[in-house]
Amino acid sequence: MAQEDVFKKIVSHCKEYGFVFRSSDIYDGLGAVYDYGQMGVELKNNIKQYWWKSMVLLHENIVGIDSAIFMHPTIWKASGHVDAFNDPLIDNKDSKKRYRADVLIEDKIAKYEEKINKEVAKAAKRFGEAFDADQFKATNPRVLANEEKKQALHTRFAAALNANDLEELRQIILDEEIVCPISGSKNWTDVRQFNLMFSTEMGSTAEGANKIYLRPETAQGIFVNYLNVQKTGRMKIPFGIAQIGKAFRNEIVARQFIFRMREFEQMEMQFFVRPGTEMDYFKKWKELRIKWHKALGFGDDHYRFHDHEKLAHYANAATDIEFLMPFGFKEVEGIHSRTDFDLKQHEKFSGKSIKYFDPEINESYTPYVIETSIGVDRMFLSIMSSAYCEETLEGGETRVVLKLPAALAPVKLAVLPLTKKDGLPEKAREIMNDLKFELNCQYDEKDSIGKRYRRQDAIGTPFCITIDHQTLEDNCVTIRHRDTMLQERVNIEDLKQIISKQTTLTSLLKQLM
Ligand code: ATP
Repeated sequence: MAQEDVFKKIVSHCKEYGFVFRSSDIYDGLGAVYDYGQMGVELKNNIKQYWWKSMVLLHENIVGIDSAIFMHPTIWKASGHVDAFNDPLIDNKDSKKRYRADVLIEDKIAKYEEKINKEVAKAAKRFGEAFDADQFKATNPRVLANEEKKQALHTRFAAALNANDLEELRQIILDEEIVCPISGSKNWTDVRQFNLMFSTEMGSTAEGANKIYLRPETAQGIFVNYLNVQKTGRMKIPFGIAQIGKAFRNEIVARQFIFRMREFEQMEMQFFVRPGTEMDYFKKWKELRIKWHKALGFGDDHYRFHDHEKLAHYANAATDIEFLMPFGFKEVEGIHSRTDFDLKQHEKFSGKSIKYFDPEINESYTPYVIETSIGVDRMFLSIMSSAYCEETLEGGETRVVLKLPAALAPVKLAVLPLTKKDGLPEKAREIMNDLKFELNCQYDEKDSIGKRYRRQDAIGTPFCITIDHQTLEDNCVTIRHRDTMLQERVNIEDLKQIISKQTTLTSLLKQLM
C-alpha cells in the first residue's frame, strides 16, 4: 500500500474509533485544531504518564511544575519570540496557497534522497545477496549525480538560512524548479517573515488592555520559575524542571493532521548545569531520550538524529529525534543546548539576579541549560502510525489491529461474556468490578465473540477474556492475546497479576535504567 494511503487510513481510523476528531466538527472543523476522543484521551494520558514518570520519578534531581499559559508580555520580548519567532512564508499566485519556504526546500532535498534510495533498492533486488550497498553508492553514476545535487542544495540552503537571506531562499525555489503541489506552477511571490505567536488582550477595558501572547512553548514558564523552584526545593545543580502543557503557534502550513497543529501540547524539561559541562549533558540527554523512544519497541530503524544546520539564536548545539512517519522521517523531539541565553535575558529584562552559588567550586554563575522538548501530539501520531496494522488471517479474513505497547493502550482488558444469559453477564461484571480499580476494562456483550475481538483489536486492547458456562464451574476464563490471537485458560484469581504485569508502565520504565 502506498504510504499516502496508509496515512489516510490512520486518519480515518483515528476518527472512526474515537481517537481524534476535528475540532468543531459539526461546524466543518477549524484549521489545524483537533480534539481527542474517548480512546485518544486515554492513549494521550498514558504517553504523558510515560514521559512524566521517566523524568520526575526516575530522576531524583528533576521536579515538575505546571505554569500558566498567560504570562507577562515582557517574557516574550526577553526570550526573543516577539522579534524572531518567524517562519519564512511564500505564496503561490495561482493556487493562492501558502507554504513555508524552508519546508519546500527541505522536501526537495528529501526527494533527492528518495531517488538515491530507490536506485539502491532496485540494485539490491537485481544483485541479491552479493549486493554491497556502500560500494554501489560510491560508484553508481546516477546515485553520485543525485548525491552531488543534494549536497549542493543543502549547502546553499544552510547558508541562506543562516544569513536570513529571504531573496536567496526564493531564488533557490526558482532554480530548483519547485512547483506548487496544488497548481503545479512556479508562479511564486516573494518570501516574507511571519510571526507565529497568537496574541490576545488582558484587561476589562480597551484602554487598559494589555497585549498578551498565548505561549508558543512551555519552556519560558520553566525559566521564569527557575528561582522559585531552586530556592523552595533547595535544588542543587545539576537539576531539571519538567512541564507538560499546551502551546500555541499560528502555523503557516498545517495540513498534516496532528503533526502540525495551531494548538498542541509539549512535554519539556530544562536541565540546569554548570557552564562548561553542557556538552557532556547534551550527549547524555541525547542518549537518554533515544532510549525512551526505542523502549516502545517499534524498531530501532524508525529513529534517527538530525543535527541542526541553523542554530536558533539561543543554542550552541541542537539535534532532532526524527521518527519514520508514513510521510518520511520527521521531527518528534528537539534536544537543545540553550546556553545561559534565557536566564540571562530574564535577568536583564526583570532586573532580578538569577545566579546560582555553587558551593562545590565556591563560585556564582548563571546556569547553562539543556532542553528536551517533545510534542505529545506528534508522539501520538508516531505511535498510531507504527501500531496500525492490517492483517490477512487464515481463511482470507482481514483484521485491523493497533499493536500499541500494552502499557500505553487505552483499554487494557475487554471482559466478554459468551452469551447474555445463564448468569454469564453477572459473572463478567463481578470480575470487572474486582479489576477496574487497577485496569482500564471494557465490558461488551453485543454481537458474536469474533466481532467483539475485532472491535478490541481496532482500539489496541492487549487482552480479552471470555466468560463461558464452564467458568461458573471451574472459576477459569479464556484469555486471548491481541497480537498472537493465542488463547489460554487461566484461573480468575491469577488474572490481575497476569494482566497488570504486562500492562503497567513499570516494565517500560525499567528498560530506561
Ligand atoms: P518544526 O520545525 O516541525 O516546526 P520546531 O523545531 O519548531 O518544529 P520545537 O520548537 O523544537 O519545534 O518544538 C518542540 C517539539 O514540539 C517538536 O519536536 C514537536 O514535537 C512539537 N511541535 C512543535 N510545533 C508543533 C506543532 N505546530 N504541532 C504539533 N507539535 C508541534
